[in-house]
Parts: sequence; structure tokens; C-alpha cells
Amino acid sequence: MVTILIKKNNAPFISLRWILLVTYIIVGIIPLLLVANTILHSIQGYFVEERKKELLSQANVVAGQLSSYDFFANADSRESLEEMILETAQDKDFRIMILDSSAMVVYDSGYEDVGKTYLLPEVMEALENKDIANAQDNDTVYAAASIVGGTQHDGVVLIVDSLADVSDTVVNIAGKAYILLAMLAVIVIVVMVALSQLFTSPIKRMINVIQKMSEGHLEQRIVVKSRVHNEVVDLALACNHMADQLEKVESSRQQFVSNVSHELKTPLSSVKVLSESILLQEDAPKEMYVEFLHDINSEIDRMTDIINDLLTLVKLDQKEIPLNFSETELHRMVDEICKRLSPLASAKNILLDLQIKQEVTAEIDEMKMTLAISNIIDNAIKYTPDGGSVVVTLDADHQNAFITVSDTGIGIPEDELTRIFERFYRVDKTRDRETGGTGLGLSITHATVMMHNGSIKASSKEDEGTTMVVRIPLHQSQNN
Ligand code: ADP
Repeated sequence: MVTILIKKNNAPFISLRWILLVTYIIVGIIPLLLVANTILHSIQGYFVEERKKELLSQANVVAGQLSSYDFFANADSRESLEEMILETAQDKDFRIMILDSSAMVVYDSGYEDVGKTYLLPEVMEALENKDIANAQDNDTVYAAASIVGGTQHDGVVLIVDSLADVSDTVVNIAGKAYILLAMLAVIVIVVMVALSQLFTSPIKRMINVIQKMSEGHLEQRIVVKSRVHNEVVDLALACNHMADQLEKVESSRQQFVSNVSHELKTPLSSVKVLSESILLQEDAPKEMYVEFLHDINSEIDRMTDIINDLLTLVKLDQKEIPLNFSETELHRMVDEICKRLSPLASAKNILLDLQIKQEVTAEIDEMKMTLAISNIIDNAIKYTPDGGSVVVTLDADHQNAFITVSDTGIGIPEDELTRIFERFYRVDKTRDRETGGTGLGLSITHATVMMHNGSIKASSKEDEGTTMVVRIPLHQSQNN
């Protein structure tokens, strides 16, 4: 019975197994039956043709004998000739008739139709000297041969024979052929069922695992035992890979939520401690209130910074705000950033040097790229001790612009270099609290550069300095 289940989306479910079987029956069994039928028809046709030839030659032999003894004119030899014809008819088990030139039966080995006129087409043809044999409805053969005698009494020898034995033989062969075909079909169907089971059962297992995954069990994996590769094995491996990725996404989501909670918890705890201290302190002096409120205010600023950075990141992720690309003079943009940040550098007595190797125009979203580059230069100033230097360089080749920011700061340990673009990742948490960073700046920069189809690379040596190179394509492709 064909399994048709109605799935949740209301589309009927037809198993691949049944599709394979039905396809086999259509392309395998039906053409086989047609071929067998054609072969059987040809065999039957062959037998009938052979019988026609045989009867015609027999009719010719008899007609020859009748001619030579001048059957119609010579009454003496007639009786012996009729006996001989009767013997032949009984021997061969067919009916022989002799008709005169007016198609009237003068002799019939069956003794039934003497005196009757047989206006058969075969008789008419033979009377015109054209010997012929025909089969009617694959049932009876009529073979007619003309008796040419040299007298005026020419006539026709007509042999009538049934084809029942031919039909019996063909039915017999057909019976055997169909039994063989049926056996073959049964064997092939069994093999097909087994094969389709072999193909569909791993797919069923995959569906089970994927269903469990969609219910939240992301640790589920499809067991691949096969040592050879095929499409089904590759599909299973691709599913497993997808599950790995989903697990990673899920764990980084959880990590992100826990990081956000943690980051917000610290300033919130400070606010709580500060406010409780004031509340518990009776008759606290006004100066103390002012000082504590000042501290509370800076904690709130910190939380606002974190939330603002988070919102920027989320918007970049969701591509909520499409990038607003326009031809922008990068030398002007970088110059403006450096001018804006120079008070920070001056406050730490850091030399902020801008080197424009060539003027460059690129297709970028100026606002977002300004924020991204500012983050890098801001970091370079933040993580460089007083008296150090920060060099910003702008250069380009035919396809890309390069903005390089090198500092003589504290540097980043080599094994942490790849992690600094992760959300909330900080090399030294305590140090960073002092600098006031949220740990999100480089994530925002990375996301922005990626959306510009560019890249960002960091190289660093501890206590010597850090270099960040941002590559931005000069032109964005059409589909961006
Ligand atoms: P933050 O807001 O803490 O600066 P970022 O995402 O901008 O966060 O940077 C992540 C971490 O990478 C920083 O906390 C810092 O430890 C490290 N870092 C970034 N830039 C530099 C640099 N120029 N020199 C040394 N360390 C850096």
C-alpha cells in the first residue's frame, strides 16, 4: 500500500521508496511486456506464413497431379485420383476441395460442400492463374492453386486448414514467457524494494536527527558508517557540519548574553553599593552626596556606552540600516578623525602623526567607517603609555585603500591577537576598566569593515607596540 501521510504543511508525503518503485514499473516492466508481446506476435506471424507456404505447395502438388491426369476430362482416372486426394487430406489432417472453372465444388474431402459454389477471393484469384494462400482472422488458412490442364475444364484445388494448432503453440510459448517475466519482475521488485530501503533508510535516520535538532537537541549527530562517499553520505556530513555551526552560534549567543549580563552587572552593583551607602549614612555631608552621585553618574555613563555599542552592533548584524555608500575622500576623513582625537593624544603627551602617502577616494559609508577607524586610533592612544607615538598612514593600490595605525603601546600577546575582534573580549579586564573601554569597539570595527568587503589584520609585540591594517575596496560591487 502506498504511504501517503499528510505533513504539517498539508502537502501530501509520498515516500521516495514508492516513487522509485513506480518509476521502475513504468520504465522497466511495461516496456518489457510490450517487447514480449511484439515478439509473440512475430512468432505467430512466422508460423502462419510457414503454414501458408506449406499449404500452397501442397495445393500446387495436387493441382499438378490433377492436370497431368486431366481430372475434369478423364472420368476413368477420376476415382483413383479422388482416393489419392482423400488419403493426402486424411494424412495431413486438412480439407481438400476441387472446384471447377465456375467455382463450384466437384470434390470435397469432407464430403459436405459438393455442388456448392465457393466465391472466395482466393478461388477467384486462382481461376485467374494466380496461386494464393491467405489466413483469415489467424484462424483458417485458404490455399488455392489453379489446375491448368490444356482442356477447357480448368479448375482450382482449394485446401482449407485450421490454425488452432498454431494458436495453441503460441499460447503455450506465451504462457511460459509470461511466467518467466513474472518471475523476473518479482525478483527485480524484491531487489528494488531492498535497494530503495538501503537508499531511504539513511535519509529517514537523517530526518529523525534533523527533527530532534529542530526541537533544540543540537548535540544530535547523524552516524556515518560508510567508508565510501556518495550523495547521501555527503548530505549526512553536511547536516553534521551544519549542526556544528548551529551549536557554535548557540554557544556564542549564550556567551554573548552572559557577557552582556556580566558587563551590566558590574556598574549596576557599583550604583547599588553607592546608593546604599548614602541611604545608610545618617546626616551625610552634602559633599559626600555630590561625590557619590558623581560616581553613580559615571557608572550610568558606562552602562549607556555599553548599551549604545551593543545597539550599534545589533544593527550592523541585522543589516537594519543599509550601508549608505558614496564616493568619499579618505584623506579628508582620516584627517578629520585625527584632528578630533588629537586632544586625547595631547593629554597623554602622545605624538599623533598622519602620513597621507596618496590622496584616495573610495566608495564607503562615511559615517560608519569614521566610527570604525576612530575605534582603532582611539585604542592606539588608549593603550600607549604617556610619551609614546601613534602613526596613521593612508595608502592605496589599484583596487584597495589601506589605513594603517601603528602605536608604540603595550602590545597584545600573540595568542590573543585573533580574539580581540570578539565581543567583550579584553586582553586585561582590570586594565580595561581603567581605560573605560566596553570591549565592543573592535567588534564594531570588524563588522563594519566586513560589510565593506574589506579586511582587518592586527600584528603586535608585547611592550613594543601594535599595528592594525584595514583594507577597504575602492569600489563596491553592484549587488552591495
Ligand atoms: P575596548 O573598548 O576594551 O578597547 P576593543 O574591542 O576596542 O575594546 O578592544 C578589545 C581589546 O583589544 C582591548 O580591551 C585591548 O585589550 C586590546 N587592544 C585593542 N587595541 C589595542 C592596542 N592598540 N594596543 C593594545 N591592546 C589593544
